[in-house]
Amino acid sequence: MDATLVATLTTPPGDGFEAELAGVAWLEVRADLVGDLPPEPLRARFHGKLLYTLRSRTEGGAWEGSAERRKRRLLEAAERYDLVDLECVRDLTPDVLKAIPAQKRVISWHGPAAGLPGLKTIFEKMSAADALLYKMVPTASQSGEEIPALLLLDSLKRRDVAAFAVGPIGAWTRLVAPRLGAPVIYGALGDVPGAPGQITLRRLREDFGLPALPPVQRLFGVVGNPVLHSLSPRLHNAAYRELGLPFLYLPFHVESFGDFWLEVVESGALEQIGMPLRGLSVTTPHKEAALAVAAAPSPRAELIGAANTLVNQRDVWEAETTDPEGVVLPLQARGLDLSRRNAAVVGAGGAGRSAAEGLAVAGARVTLVNRTLERGQSAADHLKIPFLPLEEFQPSAFDLIVNATSLGRGADDPLPFAVDALRPETVVVDLVYRAEPTPLLSAAAERGLTVVDGREVLVYQALGQFRWMTGREMPLDPALRIVGLGEVTP
Ligand code: NAP
Repeated sequence: MDATLVATLTTPPGDGFEAELAGVAWLEVRADLVGDLPPEPLRARFHGKLLYTLRSRTEGGAWEGSAERRKRRLLEAAERYDLVDLECVRDLTPDVLKAIPAQKRVISWHGPAAGLPGLKTIFEKMSAADALLYKMVPTASQSGEEIPALLLLDSLKRRDVAAFAVGPIGAWTRLVAPRLGAPVIYGALGDVPGAPGQITLRRLREDFGLPALPPVQRLFGVVGNPVLHSLSPRLHNAAYRELGLPFLYLPFHVESFGDFWLEVVESGALEQIGMPLRGLSVTTPHKEAALAVAAAPSPRAELIGAANTLVNQRDVWEAETTDPEGVVLPLQARGLDLSRRNAAVVGAGGAGRSAAEGLAVAGARVTLVNRTLERGQSAADHLKIPFLPLEEFQPSAFDLIVNATSLGRGADDPLPFAVDALRPETVVVDLVYRAEPTPLLSAAAERGLTVVDGREVLVYQALGQFRWMTGREMPLDPALRIVGLGEVTP
């Protein structure tokens, strides 16, 4: 069965409104944010159900006003909209319940984190009034607080309850809830989410294949901070669909890796809901912590001091890093002889150390460059390669340069190094990726240099992760197309 997609409208509808609503069954008008839009023009452009929501400030919205004014707006909306969101804490008065029949009611609760018994008590109170849908949304401000919403769904086993956690930490629970009976999933129409952690409709479709809900037997995911922008879910889930694998790959926004490991991975909660977590991609800033929790780290991950992959093999968490091949394979795919290259890797975090190790093993002469001397020197000593402080770095002395700093992620970041003096045969690899080429890559390409985009690096490091997690090969060409690199010029 498919999920019912609910599009949340937080700004007035613009161009492309109809196209964005393809496959959407309900349109939620957040009247606290866009005002009381008359429903007729919306109905002319959208043929599903219209849901009116006046989310109050204490429940995460923008509405503030007297109880009387609130009631008047809800009752007026009930005459013109198909469904009305009623906040169980304030709206379930006898006259509202009398005027708005059960089939029109979405009864909601948005509140602080609570354990399963607490959520059950709230649910019992709110379900004293009949409704089409009950919506329970606790806030998750630390890992573990997002789990009780899923346990609630699992214990209720009803088809009229949607429960998930709000906040970036809870974003993944929105994707699992429909697999536990939640009949609806809310997605942001456009780029302004209705609540923190709300995923855009576009991503719900493209990254997670919604509204289709094929069976899920195992969970995988990417752990990072930030992570909700990551292209990894789109890559892995598309490959699962292509290969017919009953898996789901989730974005785990994690602030404390230790909390996540304890509360989400080791707590057994995901096994309890029938969807065991079997593997994780790990990204900035958790790669060192990921290595530390693994019972069986690979020698390569230990040498580099960071892991980008954790896989549970027969109940033992193994750690590996596929980051070195993310850099080496695209260069080899271009036919470059790395043994003739004099390479500089700028950045000595997990990504930089991986790139340096991969290039050195592939035969290049590698120098590690870093802003902070101690960190750079100690990483270079560990890898047994030379170190250069960033302020002494002369880019023109190298013919292969990898940017492994985080510079380029921010819109106003300076280039990590100057490109004007680079020799024509120089190859520039940028690990940072965006939806379009980074300023560094654009500047290097303008000078006619060979460039490798961070999205291509992402795809090549994902190949090894996918193989290790699933025992299957991720199809390469669709993966490159998915990240926006249909034609990679060798
Ligand atoms: P990390 O451990 O946080 O290391 C960040 C590096 O950037 C450090 O060397 C740091 O130098 C340097 N840096 C930060 N700000 C700087 C500045 N203003 N000037 C100069 N250097 C600066 O991060 P990581 O995990 O190694 O990842 C680095 C980047 O690679 C991230 O943007 C990540 O998204 C990207 N990455 C991409 C892929 C991919 O598949 N495309 C894979 C892995 C990583 P200090 O030591 O002086 O602080």
